[in-house]
Amino acid sequence: MKRRGRNKMLTLKSLLLVISEFFKALGKSHTYSIRRNGYVMFGILWGIPVPIVTVSIGLYLSGMEYNIQNMIGEISRNPMHIFFLLHPVIFGVVFGAMGTVRDEKEKQKLEFKENLITKNAELAFANKKLKQLDEMKDNFLSMISHELKTPLTVVQGYVTFVKKGKAGPVTEKQEEVLGIAEEQTHHLDHLIGDLVELSRIESGEFSIEQEPVDIVSVARKAVSSLKQSFDDNEVDLEDKLSDKPFFVIADPERMMQVFMNLLGNAKKFTPPGGKVTVESKVKGDIIEISVSDTGIGIPGDKVNKVFDRFYQVDSTGKRKYGGCGLGLAITKSILKMHDESVIKVESEPGKGSRFFFEMTKCENNNGDKKGEEL
Ligand code: ADP
Repeated sequence: MKRRGRNKMLTLKSLLLVISEFFKALGKSHTYSIRRNGYVMFGILWGIPVPIVTVSIGLYLSGMEYNIQNMIGEISRNPMHIFFLLHPVIFGVVFGAMGTVRDEKEKQKLEFKENLITKNAELAFANKKLKQLDEMKDNFLSMISHELKTPLTVVQGYVTFVKKGKAGPVTEKQEEVLGIAEEQTHHLDHLIGDLVELSRIESGEFSIEQEPVDIVSVARKAVSSLKQSFDDNEVDLEDKLSDKPFFVIADPERMMQVFMNLLGNAKKFTPPGGKVTVESKVKGDIIEISVSDTGIGIPGDKVNKVFDRFYQVDSTGKRKYGGCGLGLAITKSILKMHDESVIKVESEPGKGSRFFFEMTKCENNNGDKKGEEL
């Protein structure tokens, strides 16, 4: 019923549109031009037989002979013939208006087609340009990463060499300064490492090992390796991981990298006195692992952007926290390579954040289910 009502509305609408186009066409000179609009002549030719036929019928009914004089007499006796005489003109105008509407439609169609062709060409050009830029960016990224990595390794080596006193005795002050330099080179090394990683992910060179791994023990290893630096920062690190192993198919090194990234961020964005918790929850064949903190949190409108590459909530020059916005983009890609696992975040500014993801239990090499029951 509803559909029929809608169809009726549509028909009425299109009828009104045709009528309004027709009346608009009556105001255009093209409608009256025999030379430019073939439909006018067509209408006139259609209209000519009308007065001929009606006058002939009039003569026949009055039993008069068929000649010009009688015809003129018939027309003057019956004023209706004036209306029939006008038919070639009326038909000419009506058909002319139809011709105008049709010509305009054709013109619009042609313009639309031409527009489409131009837009298509523009799109193809923009696409090509984008591809070139993307290639350039990838090449640039890998070139920069490698060109920076080699000299940095040399600088790092020499700083450590001098700091350890292998190039001669070092004063306390010199050791302190060299310590800062060493720390900064490590920081730079980390950033370059992220850049290399990202360029490898984007060029498809990045691959992961697929083996049964106790994911709980990987997370626990990350927790214990970072415990000291959390203590140094006066941030409490709590281990709420399951006591039982949970085997998944994964790359242990890459998963370690995921935990290090998440824990590193939690430590970085949690002020002294705060707390970071690593927790696992098993629901059947699924394990959910989360890293939550009581840190600065992320504003609601930015929460989904933190996984974009180079994105930082605070990207101002005066920003308080280091980094280059690649850690979470890499983490997301690594997890995606692991059985399409998706990392999510819940956060509240001033209260803290919770990053979490799920993985599925695997069967071990003998085909038995591993995990909780082991
Ligand atoms: P980086 O930490 O090097 O800037 P990431 O990709 O790891 O890059 O993180 C991107 C951004 O997400 C960070 O700059 C920060 O603004 C936000 N962020 C990540 N983890 C947290 C967290 N635990 N608490 C608050 N903000 C976070």
